[in-house]
Amino acid sequence: MNPLQTKIEFLKGVGPKRAELLQKELHIFTFGDLLFHFPFRYVDRSQFHKVENANQDQAFMQFKGHVRKIRKMGQARKMRLIAEFYDETGVIELIWFKGIKWVEPKLDPEKEFVLFGKPTRFNGKYNIAHPELEPSSSAKATNGRELQPIYHSTDKLNSANLHTKAIEKLVYTITQQISINLPEILSPHILETWHLMPRHLAFFEVHFPSTPDQLKLARYRLKFEELFFMQIQILRFKNHRNTEKGGFVFNRVGEKFTQFYNEVLPFELTGAQKRVVKEIRNDVKTGKQMNRLLQGDVGSGKTIVSVLAMLLAMDNGYQAALMAPTEILAQQHYIGVSELLEPIGIKTTILTGSTKTKDRRERLAALEAGEISIIIGTHALLEDRVKFQNLGIVVIDEQHRFGVAQRSRMWAKSKVPPHILIMSATPIPRTLAMSFYGDLEVSIIDELPPGRKPIQTIHKYDAHRLGIFGFMRKEIAKGRQVYVVYPLIEESEHFQYKDLMDGFESISREFPTPEFQVSVVHGRLKPADKEMEMQRFVRGETHIMVATTVIEVGVNVPNASIMIIESAEKFGLAQLHQLRGRVGRGAEQSYCVLITDYKLSSDARTRIETMVRTNDGFEVAEADLNLRGPGNIMGTQQSGILDFNIANLATDGKILKVAREAAQTLLEQDSNLSLAENALLRKNFIAYAKKHPNWGSIS
Ligand code: ADP
Ligand code: MG
Repeated sequence: MNPLQTKIEFLKGVGPKRAELLQKELHIFTFGDLLFHFPFRYVDRSQFHKVENANQDQAFMQFKGHVRKIRKMGQARKMRLIAEFYDETGVIELIWFKGIKWVEPKLDPEKEFVLFGKPTRFNGKYNIAHPELEPSSSAKATNGRELQPIYHSTDKLNSANLHTKAIEKLVYTITQQISINLPEILSPHILETWHLMPRHLAFFEVHFPSTPDQLKLARYRLKFEELFFMQIQILRFKNHRNTEKGGFVFNRVGEKFTQFYNEVLPFELTGAQKRVVKEIRNDVKTGKQMNRLLQGDVGSGKTIVSVLAMLLAMDNGYQAALMAPTEILAQQHYIGVSELLEPIGIKTTILTGSTKTKDRRERLAALEAGEISIIIGTHALLEDRVKFQNLGIVVIDEQHRFGVAQRSRMWAKSKVPPHILIMSATPIPRTLAMSFYGDLEVSIIDELPPGRKPIQTIHKYDAHRLGIFGFMRKEIAKGRQVYVVYPLIEESEHFQYKDLMDGFESISREFPTPEFQVSVVHGRLKPADKEMEMQRFVRGETHIMVATTVIEVGVNVPNASIMIIESAEKFGLAQLHQLRGRVGRGAEQSYCVLITDYKLSSDARTRIETMVRTNDGFEVAEADLNLRGPGNIMGTQQSGILDFNIANLATDGKILKVAREAAQTLLEQDSNLSLAENALLRKNFIAYAKKHPNWGSIS
């Protein structure tokens, strides 16, 4: 058997009890799993701080000094051992609650010690509980190296004495046992071309680095390997689709497209829109299925691009479907699209959950008979009874609300899979898009239609609310409308509801009827009531919309010019940006007011400052990525596709590019990994693909 598959309980120093903990807490079942439990940071044990520089923002610090004033306090089970640790610059208090009889005899005031731990500040003094304390003469990382690995541990593991140092020892035991059995899986050719450290060495160096440079090379090799597998999977899927599954050929730019473009289109397309239309036209004439993501900030004009794409389908004799995540959005699309297209004789219809039975029957029959060219709707379009005569293209708006499985149901409605255009206003940084969207081609609209006034974003504290009310009154007097949004916090739904209702009350007091009308929308309303309240605001019958984040997606009320976000510090950046995008859709100057508490965490402050500084969705997304890491980018949480062992998409964009190039080169030479030199790679890739079924099939 492969020694990496040996159960962890058989490792010297583990046993059944600790094995169970390792499984539960860290998902470590085998030797191999432990070897893949990489340190998350390293401490340079050759570096010492002065006590006066103790700082609780640092995870671990190391000092050199002596101990004094050793004393026990309390009785029996509450006994504590306390000592002072000092150097020429200051004092840190050391405390032990457990193991006192082992520690006390070692505290020799004559000896120099190395102190290692996380300082905590209490009553103006620093202390460290249960520090690592070793005589200077013997204080070194395992194996005498200077960089000490720090491993993730948990409270439960710590209480079973499986803290980072213990894990380090276990890993060391493994590396000593199986070093000869950790074969290289990449061919010499690949190693050489991409300058990679041999595998067994990389595994050893990543846990027990001999020098910082070696550590860098080791991490590079392991990150590369991880990203390389991912890219092989994505590219194989893409190649498969391109060769095996054909697509409809739209090779005519015909009457409808041209007529619309010349006679109906109410404005000149921006350069970015033109470019994207061209990209789509190139895709759909190749005979391969288009699978394209159209990213563009809110208000950048994605809809018109999708209308032109749908017209290409009409010109080639096909039908189109446009799917939106909410009823309101579907309605808005239907009104907009039918207004544009009915004049040139294109029949459109709408289907949502609330379409009456009789209407639904008629519309579905007309769709199947080919009398209707475009159907617009919600999830209702996915139902089996929705049948097309010849569906050629599917446009999906605000993609992250639809799951993968749902989307693939759309494909099944046609013998040849229809072309797919996904529109998203969630800006995904470019480095991420490449892997995040698997094999989707990405188009970007990075230019707003001319004449837009950039939204002004303002940060205000709670105490400024009266001033804000005054500002609202002025804008409403000019005929504008206002959103006031409260955070939706799932754990405390009750409080959130209370906040919202308190807010609603105070706004109703400040803006009394009949002069002012206020809508309120929140999660506790029935869908029909929610819909009605939204519609009142959309129609301009109410001046103020008080809501939770339900209004986040897509709603278009060009007359709304102020977005007020309460407790803005509680929102993530992506969400703040989405909310802000609800205003600035008309010709008027628009404003986004972020109201926060005086006290802000440093992350919250960065978020607010980012919002105030820029309107650019990609810049916001980059900031978000830096703050939170890719696992938290909107829409990625459930997918589980971003759980890497060592690679980090936020920071490893360069390695990702290299890995992609390497995967491309490999597959050009050996598309099925059937060459002898790639045998081990193939075996490991198959194992990888089993563990990561999501990659590649994301679309
Ligand atoms: P989003 O990308 O957020 O879906 P929309 O497609 O709803 O944006 O477009 C926002 C608004 O901009 C719409 O009112 C649309 O008619 C208008 N628009 C789109 N493209 C242009 C353009 N090239 N010139 C002027 N206005 C445009
Ligand atoms: Mg839109």
